[in-house]
Amino acid sequence: MRPPALNPLFASAINLPGIGPRMQVLLKKALHLPPGVTEPRVIDLVWHMPTGVIDRRATPTVADSIPGTIATLELRVLKHRAPPRGNTKAPYKVACEDDSGKIDLVFFHAERKFIERQLPEGAIRFVSGRIESYNDKKQMAHPDYIVAPEARDDLPMLEPVYPLTAGLSGKVLLKAERAAVERIPLLPEWQDATWLKARAWPGLAEAVAHVHRPQEATDVSNGSPPWQRLAYDELLAGQLALGLVRQSFKQQKGRPVSGDGAIRARIADALPFALTNSQRQALKEIAEDMGVPFRMLRLLQGDVGSGKTIVALMAMAVAVEAGAQAALMAPTEVLARQHAETIAPLADAAGLRIGLLTGREKGRARAELLDRLKAGEVDILIGTHALFQADVEFKDLAFAVIDEQHRFGVHQRLALQTKGGGGGANLLVMTATPIPRTLLMTHYGDLDVSRLTEKPAGRKPIVTKAIPVESIERLIERIRLQLHEGAQVYWVCPLIESSEKSELAAAEERHAHLAQLFGAGKVGLLHGAMPAAAKDQTMAAFSANHLKVLVATTVIEVGVNVPNANIMVIEHAERFGLAQLHQLRGRVGRGTRESFCMLLHKTPLGDPARERLEMMERTEDGFLIAEKDLELRGGGEVLGARQSGMPEFRVAEVPNFADLLAAARDDAKMVLAQDPDLKSPRGEALRTLLYLFECDEAVRLFRAA
Ligand code: ADP
Ligand code: MG
Repeated sequence: MRPPALNPLFASAINLPGIGPRMQVLLKKALHLPPGVTEPRVIDLVWHMPTGVIDRRATPTVADSIPGTIATLELRVLKHRAPPRGNTKAPYKVACEDDSGKIDLVFFHAERKFIERQLPEGAIRFVSGRIESYNDKKQMAHPDYIVAPEARDDLPMLEPVYPLTAGLSGKVLLKAERAAVERIPLLPEWQDATWLKARAWPGLAEAVAHVHRPQEATDVSNGSPPWQRLAYDELLAGQLALGLVRQSFKQQKGRPVSGDGAIRARIADALPFALTNSQRQALKEIAEDMGVPFRMLRLLQGDVGSGKTIVALMAMAVAVEAGAQAALMAPTEVLARQHAETIAPLADAAGLRIGLLTGREKGRARAELLDRLKAGEVDILIGTHALFQADVEFKDLAFAVIDEQHRFGVHQRLALQTKGGGGGANLLVMTATPIPRTLLMTHYGDLDVSRLTEKPAGRKPIVTKAIPVESIERLIERIRLQLHEGAQVYWVCPLIESSEKSELAAAEERHAHLAQLFGAGKVGLLHGAMPAAAKDQTMAAFSANHLKVLVATTVIEVGVNVPNANIMVIEHAERFGLAQLHQLRGRVGRGTRESFCMLLHKTPLGDPARERLEMMERTEDGFLIAEKDLELRGGGEVLGARQSGMPEFRVAEVPNFADLLAAARDDAKMVLAQDPDLKSPRGEALRTLLYLFECDEAVRLFRAA
């Protein structure tokens, strides 16, 4: 259970001053909540880091104030001058002064009552904002702050600036942030005292206070000691959680599983192709892991189309050769069925008995399947998370494969697997997201990894070209020729910037245009707002080659497999991230036709966009692309983390903290080596840290053990 001391931080943000139901909705947009959290909490404000600071510390006299700069003035209010009646363009002015001179405070579209209340004639006010000069007179338009002397403290001399969302004012957020900081309870220190001292890092509460109530402009920089401290906390929590998962796997004695290779040989005979070297190597690594008496936890990485399924099947065959059972779990029903279809003929040829279990299997059929499973009459069970429901009992499950793991929160998921689902089975996790090494360490710790780096033989390269949008007519003519030769085309419509029409409208327009050119019956449209049945129907028509061109918004379903489709056109490709471009391109190049990816872009291109498109032209290697993506994004958002569903860091964006990450990993290792149950005083404090960063599942492993 979470230590009660942390409860105030996990209470709803609605308890904070200025946050009502309406603000709460806006906060939810601005705050980047972790997966599964639907309502902003105090802690989400604490981890909402400022991106900069407005320095209001200059307190010149009116005469000394410099136009163009931000200043805080102490003024006496002289006189209100409303604009002439009927003139809505002229501003409302309030004349003020100090001993050195006069200045006008200027308000356009003013709400008169409000200004009169804020600036009563004769009163002293502290006013902060940008100094301007107008007709040789000093003025300040719409001051950021107007406070009475007794409320001087409410005026932040260094004002942190936060990422906002439309409708959420910086001032409201700032007030809530300040209140959130006050809720940090007194907690035991979990960081090593010498380490803190060597780095001159403050304690947690002080660090949080520094970031949200900066004393120096440099406090709001990810290189400052307070920020570093918080980043390190987050990294250490993550590394500890992963370490705990690993440790708990290792503590569980697995039994060695190995076979004579007979079933694998039969599968290989039934395959119309030979395995690639990458596939062979991965299989060897997996089989070796399975052969030792520890529980296996391995990640299999490979691009879409790199042939992970067959590796999974061969690995499952090892378990069956050893007289046990295996399971394959996919994230969606569609993917589970697709796996079952792929695997069925090979399983038949090799004499493997497979079963399919998803949410759709119900009643008698389900009961019968479960009976056979329990009796050991099913060798391989394929399905969705329905596989790990309580009443699903295997006779002897020795090996489980989880496909597309990146769609789940990684360590939470692994922890769950450790605890119950999958029993003590060896675990192979497959992901199609190429993850750069730095991130791999962050998100998966020291997990054992096999990579499929080769494409299956016979696959032709995808010719990728960046094309200025001015050449769209030429492109369309080339596509017309290709269509005559039997080609099929995906046409992805742009991500829309807010000022433009909707994504849907753009797709509809392009659809109408292409339908006119190529024939209405040949061009389909797929978008997110369509009912599921209509989507399925359109997809089926494309798949059956009735539709030749499929215009789609960016939601082309995961797992769509149309081998005959060989052209991918992406409009406004400059707006997509590398990871996304790579994913989209992966939809073609699956058949025997020569394939193309056409990246339509506006001109001129900015530097990062040009680099992205050039990278796409240069290589199809997902791993290289992922590394480049990380490099280009720099300290920003990590590798389309949101697209891929990977847990994101809130304070410690990688790669800015690469050195801290390495230190956190070593620290976590050392802690777990000396105090595997986190029972020492520091260990106890570290448990609190784990809860603070919501690694609850990892802490629960102790009780499971
Ligand atoms: P992934 O799951 O990694 O995206 P799949 O396992 O679905 O990829 O494989 C993609 C396609 O490649 C399938 O049609 C599969 O039969 C084929 N394939 C897999 N391995 C090879 C190989 N060694 N040689 C030729 N084709 C292969
Ligand atoms: Mg797959």
